[in-house]
Amino acid sequence: MLFNNIKSEFPTLINSELAYFDSAASTQTHQKVLDRMNKYYEHERCNVHRGDFKLSQDVSKDCDDARHLVAGLLNTTDDNIMFTGGATDGLNMVAHWHKNYPVVIISEAEHTANILPWLAQGRTIENGKLVVLPVEESGYIDPDKANEVFRKYPYAFCSLVSTSNVIGITNNLKKIIYYAHEHGIKICLDACQTISSHEIDTSKIFPDFVVGSGHKMFGPTGIGFLYSRLGFDLYQPYRLGGGTVNTYNFNGNIEFYEGPIKHESGTPNIAGILGLGIAAEYIKFIGYENISQRLKIVEDYLSEAGLFEIPELKLSHRLDSKDCRNVFSFVTNNLHPSDISAFVGLDDVAVRVGKVCAHPIVNKISNGKGIFRVSTHIYNTKEDCDKLVESIWKSIKKLS
Ligand code: PMP
Repeated sequence: MLFNNIKSEFPTLINSELAYFDSAASTQTHQKVLDRMNKYYEHERCNVHRGDFKLSQDVSKDCDDARHLVAGLLNTTDDNIMFTGGATDGLNMVAHWHKNYPVVIISEAEHTANILPWLAQGRTIENGKLVVLPVEESGYIDPDKANEVFRKYPYAFCSLVSTSNVIGITNNLKKIIYYAHEHGIKICLDACQTISSHEIDTSKIFPDFVVGSGHKMFGPTGIGFLYSRLGFDLYQPYRLGGGTVNTYNFNGNIEFYEGPIKHESGTPNIAGILGLGIAAEYIKFIGYENISQRLKIVEDYLSEAGLFEIPELKLSHRLDSKDCRNVFSFVTNNLHPSDISAFVGLDDVAVRVGKVCAHPIVNKISNGKGIFRVSTHIYNTKEDCDKLVESIWKSIKKLS
């Protein structure tokens, strides 16, 4: 019932020939998100948290409500949620706050956004300031191997992708976080690829930080969230500017506000915040159980269409558990993934190829050639899946 006519809720897909399999790059935006953003621009245009007039106060309250909706999705309090410009922004902030840590632990499946900020601090494997956890053949980070590393580097900082945008398998977060904490290690989750399909209940798994992004959860681009277990008062603002201070003077006496607004400098992305709130509400409304069931149905459609039987495409990691998954990366044999992608693109089929901003893991599994990635979401239909596989076969025949 929930998913009958689901495409009609995502405007880009309505009356379109597009078979969209690039949700790991960006999910489609829900109609209700767009409606809320348009309402702001068309009827409610003003600045927030500054005006005494009713309109400004109403929209300010709606922005506060959006924070509450995001907090609700993560099962935390509003004070622990900051709005950011996206996951990259959040990860840079977390990296800045922990720049003095002697050792930082990441994994080899990180997105560039969780690698470059650490490299920019002069950390390398060689100088011992960066430690990289391996990903097993199964696609998982082995919690016991992670525990061994944690034991070696107590009080390090750890920043890990919860679901890789290449592998698509969601890690055993509870166990990894538990082990990290046993060794005094704080842990940040890059949950970009997780939050639209898997629950991150902060009161059950206890991460120290979580970053997420609106455009990966049926919401707008250019907006995201950063969760901090201990709130934000402990940290120095990374971006300084208006809206963050109670008082200051030219002698350098600055009194910042308390809470997340201390860090949300400048006029916020108001439409983005309102849209993100609706996206969080939508996910909560649908529920992770239903999303997971739907993603499994879509995976079955792909399987029935024969995607996993194409000899030219070898799935990088097979998922043997019952967990759901919406990212499937393939390594090609003789053909180049970009050639196949170019041809399927002509059929209005959207896939993604190359290093997908996760160079180390892609280089490892594809010998530097790049991958062919098919990523699904709840709006993909049987027709989409048939069209994808048909188009891939057509392309392969043309190229062979
Ligand atoms: N981490 C992961 C795992 C991602 O997939 C992405 C987006 N491709 C990012 C971080 C960066 O997110 P954003 O585009 O919101 O900055």
